[in-house]
Amino acid sequence: MSESFSLSSTFLPEISPLYDPWDPLPAYRKYGEHRLTSVELTVTNLCNMRCEHCAVGESLTLREGKRLPLADVLRRLDEVEQLETISITGGEPSFHAKTVHEYIVPLLKYARARGVRSQINSNLTLDLARYEAIAPYLDVMHISFNYLNEDDFYQVGFVRSEHATSRETAAKMYDKMLDNTRELAKGGLFVSAESMINFRTHEKLVGIHELIVQMGCQRHEVHPMYPSAFASNLPVLTLDQTRAAIHKLLDGRDKNLWMLFGTLPFYACSMLEEDRSIVARLRNESGVTVRNDPDGRNRLNVNLFTGDVYVTDFSDVPPLGNAMHDRLDQVFARWRQHPLYAKVGCYCPAASCCGPNLLVADTYYKDVDFTKRHAFI
Ligand code: SF4
Repeated sequence: MSESFSLSSTFLPEISPLYDPWDPLPAYRKYGEHRLTSVELTVTNLCNMRCEHCAVGESLTLREGKRLPLADVLRRLDEVEQLETISITGGEPSFHAKTVHEYIVPLLKYARARGVRSQINSNLTLDLARYEAIAPYLDVMHISFNYLNEDDFYQVGFVRSEHATSRETAAKMYDKMLDNTRELAKGGLFVSAESMINFRTHEKLVGIHELIVQMGCQRHEVHPMYPSAFASNLPVLTLDQTRAAIHKLLDGRDKNLWMLFGTLPFYACSMLEEDRSIVARLRNESGVTVRNDPDGRNRLNVNLFTGDVYVTDFSDVPPLGNAMHDRLDQVFARWRQHPLYAKVGCYCPAASCCGPNLLVADTYYKDVDFTKRHAFI
């Protein structure tokens, strides 16, 4: 594919280490409180993979019913006055070409026309044509990449499948994912590859990073894995292991590639010197950003099949409302009254931090009241 994706949003600011519209902090600074600026839409529960760590694993299905009419979804988005970003997620959003044409492309066109930035979470293992249909209207193609080779991919990607997948099939999918990523990146699409820090990857992140650079991705996103959904029973790294993995990655990274860290369990209010020092290192490295977590801050997730609205797509918090009869800003107002919202509702301007992600707090800091802590910076 030689032609570049020409419908890019040239009049909008470039997504860069200086401008990450998914970070909830700029809106918080602007309005003095968290506002709903981001909506995530679950457009399918189908997927051709069953990764062992899948954050929405329990909701994956083999068939699915009807979605809310597109016009209703667009009306709900229209009502969100301060909308800045949408994310389209699944399952594999492009699992059916019909979903691409009837929902994904219209949603992306809507976002583009409104100056709202867009992201799709995909495994990029299907035919390139599906992704090429999406690319001209999309801001960020977000993929998961946790592998050094097809054996890693095979080991991780099909563990929860109901039917066995052969190594040969997995190897073909792996090659396709690499080829698709290269082609889309070459065509000018912003591809952001996310790696988890977990028991499988923590010692090979530099090698994974090198492959991401070679594929031409524009960003390497790194998040620790937390025990939710399929990952609930996987080993959890200690904070020492996670810290060591991040330092090693920072030492070995290609400094020309933007690295975005998120859902980190290290804060400037920590009593531990090693925590404060990794926070300081991340802040001072060039081309490295740390995103405050949108979940529970400025984002809601809407399931397009049931209309249910969640605080995240993988949260154990029950739905807070339903898009069939609630406006999304009403649902967000409800979330702001929820006891869990207050639990992590801290903000330290000097540290550019607005508190931990709910899962992180639950995994490592069950007894800590963050609202009583302050950054030491
Ligand atoms: S905002 Fe919360 S988590 Fe962040 S440094 Fe301050 S007290 Fe700690």
